Order: sequence, then structure tokens, then C-alpha cells
Amino acid sequence: MIDLHLHTTMSDGEHSPAAVVNMAAARGVSMLSITDHDTVDGLAEAQIAAKNAHVQFIPGIEIAVSDNRELHILGYYIDPAHQELQAFCTEIRQERSLRTDRILAYLAQHAIDLTKEQVLQYAQQNVVSRTHFALAMVGAGYVETVADAFTQYLATPAFAQIDRKKPSPAYAIRLIQQAGGVAVLAHPARLGLENHPFQHLLQQLIQAGLQGIECMYSTHTPRQTQYYQSLADQYGLLATGGSDYHGSRSKPHIHIGTGINGNLCFTDQNIAAKLWAARISSSKLRS
Ligand code: AMP
Ligand code: MN
Ligand code: MN
Ligand code: MN
Repeated sequence: MIDLHLHTTMSDGEHSPAAVVNMAAARGVSMLSITDHDTVDGLAEAQIAAKNAHVQFIPGIEIAVSDNRELHILGYYIDPAHQELQAFCTEIRQERSLRTDRILAYLAQHAIDLTKEQVLQYAQQNVVSRTHFALAMVGAGYVETVADAFTQYLATPAFAQIDRKKPSPAYAIRLIQQAGGVAVLAHPARLGLENHPFQHLLQQLIQAGLQGIECMYSTHTPRQTQYYQSLADQYGLLATGGSDYHGSRSKPHIHIGTGINGNLCFTDQNIAAKLWAARISSSKLRS
């Protein structure tokens, strides 16, 4: 079993990097990547845990970008010490922190009174994500589920007005590559695009340097998996897969390695070698 999309307490996951690695190993995962949102902070801890558990480890990140719509770009084999990448992560952390007060005010306008402390109790690393707001809203009884919090308040057009700034896809792809990594489009089906507009977007992303698609994903139907796999073949992109595990508190139906109801099945043992080989040398990036 392989799972190249996992979140930890360093972003909006429930469990520490070492705990996620150990849970994955206990479930029989042989290769994994930690892909926290806009941070590389969990990678050192995860790497040590993976070594001890005899699990192959690929350092990763997931960057949210925007070009009229929100997309997520995964970066594999990025160097966590890369300076520009680190500066980027620091900037996003600051953007999140500034956004926190805006979200509290926005929710108050909707008669939801939460304190910063109520939200921060769910964010173990003080990196505040919408997930933590959703958990606080459930905890205080304003909504029944995390999903409801998003549908009603945190993923609405009104919310978009107060959301943080996000980089362009081209910037994130380039940054991942400059940090020695390989850029992959995460959970393509979540874009909700039909074939023609999706391929149009994909072609633009490939122009910007995209190298892979997450074909195997927790919510993909067999038909969707096959569709993205055929596009990966057609465009010469790598096909990756992962669960997007966050723990049981915000996405309880998603399990490490197997996704939802066991429908995730990613077994390409050569994916690490393929990703490693796809890294672009810095001299090539400059030219
Ligand atoms: P942020 O980057 O802080 O804006 O938060 C985005 C996070 O919210 C994503 O990483 C998802 O894990 C989570 N999220 C977004 N939409 C939903 C949803 N509809 N239901 C549950 N979680 C969501
Ligand atoms: Mn998340
Ligand atoms: Mn994502
Ligand atoms: Mn994710």
C-alpha cells in the first residue's frame, strides 16, 4: 500500500507527523509522503519515524493556489531547507494569522461568537486553518459537522471576500521545482470541471511546468481514476495517489492507505524512483 497524501498537526491534521507515519506503518503502508498545507515543518520528524518503521519516505507539501478558482499543487521531494520555500511558508503562515481576525469578525456577523482561544485549542502548532474554525464551530454547537461549517460559512462566496491571498499556479509550480521537487495536481475531480475545460486547464498547468496528476484519490470513482490515468498517459504526466488523510475529527471517513470504504488503491512501487527522476536540475530551471 502506498499513500502520498497525508496531513499532520503541522497543518490541519489531527495527529503528529510521527504518529501518522506509525499508524500508516501499522496499516501496512510501505511508502508514504507527508503533504501538509503550505509547510515543511513536519518533514524532519516524519522522516525519522519512517526510517524507524522501515517505511519509504518522500518529503512533500501541498500548496493552495488560485487562478479564479482554487487548486492544490502537491510538491514531492522538495528540500525542506530551501530558502525561498521556507520564506514562502513563513509568509503564508502570516497571511493565515492575519486572516484569523477577519474570520472571527465575519463569523460574528453571522451570529457565531467564537474567541481566538476557542479556535486555537484545535490548532496544535498555532497555524490556523479553516478546518480549525470548523472544529470550533462544531465544538460550540453552531453546526453539526465540519462539512456543514464549510458549506454554510467557510466555503461560500462571502467567505472568499475575506480569504487570504494565494499564489498563482505558475508561482507554486516553479517554487516547488526550485526547491528540488516535482509538481503534481492534487485531487483533480474536486475542481468539478467537465472534460474539455479540465484539459484546457491541464494544458495551462503543463505549460507552467506541471509534472503529474493525483489519479488515485479517496473520493475518485473507478471511472474518474481511469479518466485521469488516461490523461496522465496522454500528456506524459506521472500518476500519483493518496488518501488526503486528516485524522478522524474533520474527515472521519478517510483512512490512511485505503481512502473511503477501501476504494483507494495505489500500488506503483516505482513511483518514488519516477518522482526522483522527474526532478529538474537547477541549471535547466534558470535557462
Ligand atoms: P485553509 O487553507 O485554512 O483555507 O483551509 C483549507 C482546508 O479546509 C483544506 O485543507 C481542507 O482540509 C479543508 N476543507 C476545505 N473544504 C472543506 C469541506 N467542504 N469539508 C471539509 N474540509 C474542507
Ligand atoms: Mn486540510
Ligand atoms: Mn487539497
Ligand atoms: Mn490535502
